[in-house]
Amino acid sequence: MSKLLITDLDLKGKKVLVRVDFNVPMKDGVITNDNRIVQALPTIKYVLNNGGKAILFSHLGRVKTEEDKAKASLAPVAKRLEELLGQKVEFVPMTRGKELEDKINALKEGEVLMFENTRFEDINGKKESGNDPELGAYWASLGDVFVNDAFGTAHRAHASNVGISSHIKEAAAGFLMEKELRFIGDAVDNPVHPFVAILGGAKVSDKIGVIDNLLRKADKVIIGGGMAFTFYKAKGYEIGTSLCEEDKVDLARELLEKAKDKLVLPVDNVVADKFDNEAFHKVVNSNEIPSDMMGVDCGPKTLELFKEILKGAKTVVWNGPVGVFEMPNFAKGTKALCEMLANLEGATTIVGGGDSASAAINMGFESKFTHISTGGGASMEYLEGKVLPGVAAINDK
Ligand code: AMP
Repeated sequence: MSKLLITDLDLKGKKVLVRVDFNVPMKDGVITNDNRIVQALPTIKYVLNNGGKAILFSHLGRVKTEEDKAKASLAPVAKRLEELLGQKVEFVPMTRGKELEDKINALKEGEVLMFENTRFEDINGKKESGNDPELGAYWASLGDVFVNDAFGTAHRAHASNVGISSHIKEAAAGFLMEKELRFIGDAVDNPVHPFVAILGGAKVSDKIGVIDNLLRKADKVIIGGGMAFTFYKAKGYEIGTSLCEEDKVDLARELLEKAKDKLVLPVDNVVADKFDNEAFHKVVNSNEIPSDMMGVDCGPKTLELFKEILKGAKTVVWNGPVGVFEMPNFAKGTKALCEMLANLEGATTIVGGGDSASAAINMGFESKFTHISTGGGASMEYLEGKVLPGVAAINDK
């Protein structure tokens, strides 16, 4: 990779600022999935093992008012990190000031400090999210070198990634950042063929750029989930009460014409009489959807078709559920697809972040994929071929 890496830095005795992505899902103050913390461990351990003083920071959720602060403190994350690392993590409940500076200056080699949610700075004028230059310069002044390991935030230009990078001499990528860029970057720029992309989820409008880019790079692009119905509509099918973006039907038609048989749609669907797990449901061919029913999952013939297409694939990228997977009765397609990919032999399998990543992890297939991205929005923009500002701000080698 052409970017400066953590392994290119001399960390001994240095105050190492590490932007991690600890934006973990929480419920009532309890972390429900610690994957992002686990994924950041190699970088943190490397800093500690190489004589660095680790100063960690991250955003967590959205913070707009003083009241939001109580729910968005990183204190529980620091506790969990302490358990995972097996060593003390000094948590400083502030984002600036003398106490924070004194504690950073008192750090010894191999010690870890973590400060409060960077978005606490958004309350008085979006300083973090707006990449306020004074804030970026201030945070940069707290350390000697900067390591950016927050891939999940790389599609945003914030003070804690882009801001710091532009005010410090050395800004390098951490191991997680490097891994994400390598796997997703190689899949898009340099895939081993046959390359199959599977895109699901609710809206075509969210994924136009990704579909467009992957149609140019992949051998097959499978479209599933709610998005498929806008494409059926473009083909003139009855879609009943299924999800449809009327203003994207023309675009879907253009994509179908351009892609020809490269673009694959489900051939049968589970249809339900209402958007409810307990709804009456049945399987129909995709061109026979009853006018009073909606498509909620893909059917068995479709899963056979997916299997056939995936046979022999060497690179597979998957993003987005192929049905309403939050409802157990309509999660079967997504589960079957996940299992199919997990058991695919000889292929590099990459799961984009978000719902598909949680599905793969929750179903226990975590270790069976080559790479599960920690970044939802970031992985989508990277698959779209966009330059991510957080990545661009890392120094070149
Ligand atoms: P996205 O965030 O775009 O990846 O979309 C994920 C959402 O798509 C999930 O909440 C799914 O329930 C939803 N979804 C998938 N298939 C369908 C469908 N057939 N009808 C409605 N929503 C769907």
